[in-house]
Amino acid sequence: MDRSWMNERRISEEYEKGVSVFLQYVQENAKSVNRTYFCPCVRCLNQIRQDLDNMCDHLFMFGIMRTYTVWTWHGEVLDQPTMSRGTDYVEEWMSDHLEDMIRDLGEDNFGRANLYDSLINYSEQPLYPGCSNFTRLSATLKLFSLKARNGWTDKSFTELLELLKEMFPKNNTLPIRN
Ligand SMILES: [Zn+2]
Repeated sequence: MDRSWMNERRISEEYEKGVSVFLQYVQENAKSVNRTYFCPCVRCLNQIRQDLDNMCDHLFMFGIMRTYTVWTWHGEVLDQPTMSRGTDYVEEWMSDHLEDMIRDLGEDNFGRANLYDSLINYSEQPLYPGCSNFTRLSATLKLFSLKARNGWTDKSFTELLELLKEMFPKNNTLPIRN
């Protein structure tokens, strides 16, 4: 399915058509809770549910997350060739799209300047002193990707994070960065 409309201007005809295709897709494929669905606008980031009318408003007012090209929060399944490429592929995709994701979060979200700054910071800090494989951000994204792909509950995920926190060196041992 052509998703190029997601990069078009919000006042364009392509974007308008794209939004109606998306809303149709949501109705046919996504699971609703009291007629609400996760909203993929740059404010809700698929974390907050909205009914279709509100979602439609959000997609025009705030815009859709441009990196959300596989609609996994709305019933779309990653295709087999993508899956068989495995973790490496997901990690590669993550690092390729990290900047886009940060940009998506940054734009139109001036009220969330702190979040934006933290993300930029996290993308530069090693996970722990001397760690060269992961930054704090890439580690967090990888954990979230695992959670999403395997359907872990929030409770199990929180427990895992708490355990990891105990296992890792404390934050205050991180080198001070300017
Ligand atoms: Zn929204």
